[in-house]
Amino acid sequence: MTNEKPSTPLHSLDRESKPMNPGDAAPEGTPGTGEDVCPKCHGSGQIDSKPCINCGGTGFIIEAIGGA
Ligand SMILES: [Zn+2]
Repeated sequence: MTNEKPSTPLHSLDRESKPMNPGDAAPEGTPGTGEDVCPKCHGSGQIDSKPCINCGGTGFIIEAIGGA
């Protein structure tokens, strides 16, 4: 009774290594998007001396650039 299972990974995380932040509209590098100053912390990356969760403390978010 040797039932060998092939070792297949459940999830191959070969996507972006950089996690998205809540304020990001799309992953970095997505066409039609660009970096902008975080509207929550206004680019400081901090709110009340705590890291801004909207931008992940970077002070910048990825925004969709509207073609308006
Ligand atoms: Zn922020």
